[in-house]
Amino acid sequence: MKKITKLLVGTNNKGKFKEISNLLPKNLKIYSPSDLKIKSPAENGKTFEENSLIKARYFSKKSKMTCLSDDSGLEVDILNGDPGIYSARWGGQKGDFVKAINRVFKELDKKDKNWKIKKIKARFICVLTIYQSNKKIINSVGKIEGYISPSMKGKNGFGYDPIFIPKEKNVTFGEMKPFQKYKIDHRFKAFKKIKKFF
Ligand code: IMP
Repeated sequence: MKKITKLLVGTNNKGKFKEISNLLPKNLKIYSPSDLKIKSPAENGKTFEENSLIKARYFSKKSKMTCLSDDSGLEVDILNGDPGIYSARWGGQKGDFVKAINRVFKELDKKDKNWKIKKIKARFICVLTIYQSNKKIINSVGKIEGYISPSMKGKNGFGYDPIFIPKEKNVTFGEMKPFQKYKIDHRFKAFKKIKKFF
């Protein structure tokens, strides 16, 4: 396959757009759906893979461009994997992440009132999909394991970053400098496997 030189980054989430743009080579011409006035499709898949494909296909067909989409989220083990594919939806219509994080805390309180003094296992998952000329080229999964912080810490990043402590670190993603997070996170790991296309 020829190297991709022009790309639609298929997300209307500003935090994700920024992170994905940072992973891509600087000479690539990047567009966002909002540049082309394209709204996001309904994410009615049952898995990260399905939702990533829904977005990649939809944005690519609408724009007639090659699209790289991302579906990602946080899985908490004792919440049976929630919020999972509902990670964005827990923030409500306005994508309010304080609300989403408080929902995680509330669900944890319901499960185990002593959760704050335990290690609550969680992971971020990212599925990236490249879609071009009416077909899926590839998808790639990246994961990072870690724990839920008992309180919000740090102002960097987006989404659940203030409550996620990667394994073997003792600070949250929200406390890490952006370039430190990019080098270890789920999106970076998924991207490494498809880097050759760009
Ligand atoms: P979606 O893939 O657009 O359905 O949304 C994924 C949601 O997962 C985001 O809105 C965030 O809530 C969460 N998420 C995914 N990746 C990250 C991350 O790197 N940091 C924090 N939250 C994330």
